Amino acid sequence: MKLIFEIGKEGRGLSLLPPCDVPEASLSSSQQRQSQLHLPEVSEQEMSRHYTKLAGRTRGLNKGFYPLGSCTMKYNPKLNEEMSALEGFTQIHPLQGDETVQGCLELLHDAGGMLAEITGMDAFSFQPAAGAHGEFTGLLLIKAWHESQGHQSRTKILVPDSAHGTNPASAAMCGYQIVSIPSSADGMVDLEALKAAVGEDTAGLMLTNPNTVGLFDRNILEITAIVHEAGGLCYYDGANLNAVMGWARPGDMGFDCIHSNLHKTFSTPHGGGGPGAGAVGCKAFLADFLPGPVVSGSKETGWKFVTPAKSIGSVKQFYGNFLVVVRAFTYLLTQGGDGLKSVSANAVLNANYMKKQLEDTYDMAYAGTCMHEFVISCENLKKETSVSAMDIAKGMIDYGIHPPTMYFPLIVHEALMVEPTETEARETLDEAIEVMKQLAEQAKEDPEKLHAAPVRTVIGRPDEVTAARNPKLRYLFTEQPAENR
Ligand SMILES: *Cc1c(COP(=O)(O)O)cnc(C)c1O
Repeated sequence: MKLIFEIGKEGRGLSLLPPCDVPEASLSSSQQRQSQLHLPEVSEQEMSRHYTKLAGRTRGLNKGFYPLGSCTMKYNPKLNEEMSALEGFTQIHPLQGDETVQGCLELLHDAGGMLAEITGMDAFSFQPAAGAHGEFTGLLLIKAWHESQGHQSRTKILVPDSAHGTNPASAAMCGYQIVSIPSSADGMVDLEALKAAVGEDTAGLMLTNPNTVGLFDRNILEITAIVHEAGGLCYYDGANLNAVMGWARPGDMGFDCIHSNLHKTFSTPHGGGGPGAGAVGCKAFLADFLPGPVVSGSKETGWKFVTPAKSIGSVKQFYGNFLVVVRAFTYLLTQGGDGLKSVSANAVLNANYMKKQLEDTYDMAYAGTCMHEFVISCENLKKETSVSAMDIAKGMIDYGIHPPTMYFPLIVHEALMVEPTETEARETLDEAIEVMKQLAEQAKEDPEKLHAAPVRTVIGRPDEVTAARNPKLRYLFTEQPAENR
């Protein structure tokens, strides 16, 4: 397929810019481009065809089942998009006076209030742009609180080995040392190891719950009590609240701080680079440290942006990705409390349905009931047939299914982590189950075929190492002198 720079012709296309209605200003020569700016010169029709072709090659939820574990690729209702495109939300400027955007401030305030109720927290900030960014922000709150208490020696963050990979990375970014806590055989945090690890150097614990093997830690109250008794704080990675929303609240489980990904549970688009929102919530004693601005006031007295008294500062410009919050708020209002509760129930039901149906075909990493996702281990399958988790995942592509997460979590060998989400109908799950059963059959009968999959896509198996080490991200305009490329 040709790139947009390779189609069209010089002079073709249509300039839609309105005539200039302000005085022209000229730039000094040092500020001016010295070479031609490369812009595609295509007609509207050529452009429309080009992007339609590109869209045809893009894998997305609109194309089919997308069971990517730990990412909650649920369907995002079009209504969310419609609301976020309203002019009252899009035609505003961050530096506009608070009194001119009262509705937007009220929306931020109310969305924060709803999330606080869902998570059992007292205050929220929407400034972080993504989940990992939220973790970073939440840990800075914990760090600032310890500093305010004169706790100089608390330099370690405990992270269970079943945590999402961003957890230790975020803690390290905050200057903490990471102590990894092993899981017991049943996928829970090993309590004895936790007791042995906590101490006067513990700043806190970061827990992903349900964890990355799809299990809710049944010792959750004991875990937070152990950390609190040792003087540490508890951070809840709530990127995926899809399993517990409406049923259990991290605040009631003893957690002090949380982030939740609006671009997962709260149904705003993600993938392909955002924008997202890693909303950070905390208990009242941490609220003064939140990044500013946050919304304060009331409908009667008027809403205004304020910076909390001991704020850690800004982690992003202004108040974060506002239109993502508009989408999430729309979702919250359309679902309502009961709707959110049934979302979680169906997410858990769908995962357990698939798990049960596949139990006789694939080895499950952990037995019993799962939450919103489950993990298959292809370790034995690979030993017996030479077909790996990668081969099964690639095979699924040929049947129009996006692969599940592969080789994660690291504590399961040859892992495939499946999260069907609540928005898929039973027929879709049944089809996927059938495909996965057929692939297991194929692994025994014709492993070579699966080593070669996918065969129905434009690209088969790119060399991932070369792709990562030598990425080609820019188009080289051959007629240009090298220094301008
Ligand atoms: C997705 C995810 C994250 C990271 O969120 P990003 O928005 O990708 O930065 C963190 N923890 C868990 C459990 C997740 O699923």
